[in-house]
Amino acid sequence: MKPTETTPRPRRELKFSGHPIAPGIGIGPVYEAAEPVLTITHKKIAAADIAAETARLEDAISLSRKQLIKLKTKLASLPEQSQTEIDPLIDAYLHMLGNSRLVRGARLRIRDKLISPEAAVMEEADAQADAILTLTGPDKAGRVRRAEEVREIARRILRNLTRLPFRNFTNIKSGSILAAESLRPADAALIQPTNFAGIITAEGGADGHTAVMLRALGLPAVLGATGVLEAAKPGTMAIIDGEAGEIILNPTARSLAAAQARLAERARSLRALARLQKASAETTDHVPVDLQANLELPFEIPMIAESGAHGIGLMRSEFIFMNRETLPDEDTQFQIYRDIVEAMDGDPVTIRVLDWGSDKEVEALAEYTPDTAEANPALGLRGIRLLLRNPELLETQLAAILRAAAHGPVRIMIPMVGFQSEIIATWEIYDRVWRRLKRRNIRLPETRPPLGIMIETPAAALAARHLAKHADFFAIGTNDLTMYTLAADRSLPVGSKLYDPLEPTILRLIYETVVAATAAKIPVSLCGELASRPEATPLLFGLGIRQFSMHGNAIPRVKKAIRAVNSKHCLQLAATALELPDADSVRALLAGG
Ligand code: PEP
Ligand code: MG
Repeated sequence: MKPTETTPRPRRELKFSGHPIAPGIGIGPVYEAAEPVLTITHKKIAAADIAAETARLEDAISLSRKQLIKLKTKLASLPEQSQTEIDPLIDAYLHMLGNSRLVRGARLRIRDKLISPEAAVMEEADAQADAILTLTGPDKAGRVRRAEEVREIARRILRNLTRLPFRNFTNIKSGSILAAESLRPADAALIQPTNFAGIITAEGGADGHTAVMLRALGLPAVLGATGVLEAAKPGTMAIIDGEAGEIILNPTARSLAAAQARLAERARSLRALARLQKASAETTDHVPVDLQANLELPFEIPMIAESGAHGIGLMRSEFIFMNRETLPDEDTQFQIYRDIVEAMDGDPVTIRVLDWGSDKEVEALAEYTPDTAEANPALGLRGIRLLLRNPELLETQLAAILRAAAHGPVRIMIPMVGFQSEIIATWEIYDRVWRRLKRRNIRLPETRPPLGIMIETPAAALAARHLAKHADFFAIGTNDLTMYTLAADRSLPVGSKLYDPLEPTILRLIYETVVAATAAKIPVSLCGELASRPEATPLLFGLGIRQFSMHGNAIPRVKKAIRAVNSKHCLQLAATALELPDADSVRALLAGG
């Protein structure tokens, strides 16, 4: 279908699939997250800058083309019916990014009117859309659609010309399904879970930081559902199944009834799981495990309390630094940590110092970023590396945590350790901060809280027996461990078959880490997303994990899984899995195949 053809599209039921992120059924109208308001100033440019400004336009156009071509290749994985629906639309967009009237018009405006590319694209798109709408003839709906297509492609170019930091979720009607092309972790942190029935995005993977955030919200969510945004107009009715990773647009009455039945069934099984809250987490032969919660955002505290978690095994402190223009000072941080420690009422809280970098962006930290753009931020100044380059950041955070530790049991954790020297350097700073606070008679805990490390790089796992001499505890972060070991981004899309924490290589690194921790007599936990997958629980137990930390709403399911197995079976399972050649064989083993 060419953009000029105007037959109205029938509202057929369409199915999409993506990464299952957070279980649950969501039913509601789709609302696309409002893009940040594009404030395009009608900036004049100097004649001498015409070439440079036109080059900026060409770059944005070529980036837009790349995005759409990527989308088109990804479409191959969609059900055929959905492909026929969306493919022509993308072709139309790609056509408009060629030597189209829109692009030619924008170039001329830069040259003749001496205005910025942003203003030129905006003006040209408005002029063309208005011209289409003033035409007369029978097919009004078709004209409206064509005008919208022009504006849509202009928005894509403008988005690539101007990078806007914040997204606005406040105008979305409550009960809707929030749809976005992609969400950054900082966007996810802004979402009020009670306002939405669910979340869908066209891009993003299962273990990226955005996914971690969304799981924390406990909302049904499906990420990386290619093509869904092109098919969903505002208000389109949708069903999302966050467990199966399925989205149905324009559901038939039958699909709707089936989804409602599943919703009711889920409520029943949640009630059954809630009854497990007080039950002990132990195998059938009474080997106990410790189930703790991960905390991304403070509003999760009540949910964590209800989940039956025994403390917080990983508090990601990034939220304190996100969505603000200046860095939080020691007092601000102290109050946040103290409130959480007090709310946990004597249960331990493991606070991880800032793990900035890679896919986590913190605007307030812009001045601490390396001078030159990193070719690969995931392999650059991230986590403890960044903090040790800017020790004042670490000192402020450690001081705030130490003061909070006077209010309840706290452990401190270092992210992204790759080298023994990083732990030693952190200890030096930690000692210094402790002594400084003591000197000033600041209220502190009687003994210094334990300082442990994340094992989330292959280097750390392989050197675990050396690192154990310097760490009070280990926490295995399988999200990054998988990414760095398999050289596969943790946000890779469904079906990529590249990122998989069940690969035996990862299982071996987990096992070696447990062996090293046991030999050094230090505690070891597992706090990556793998900890929340009940099908993996017996295997992880068999590898020696006795402490799991996960988003609170996964605890009942993992507890149920532990209570259903005996330890001997788990040990056998792990021994077999370690010898298997790939993740598929491990999955088959876990499924009993
Ligand atoms: C991990 O990498 O597994 C982890 C728990 O840390 P994060 O997801 O915050 O990187
Ligand atoms: Mg990590």
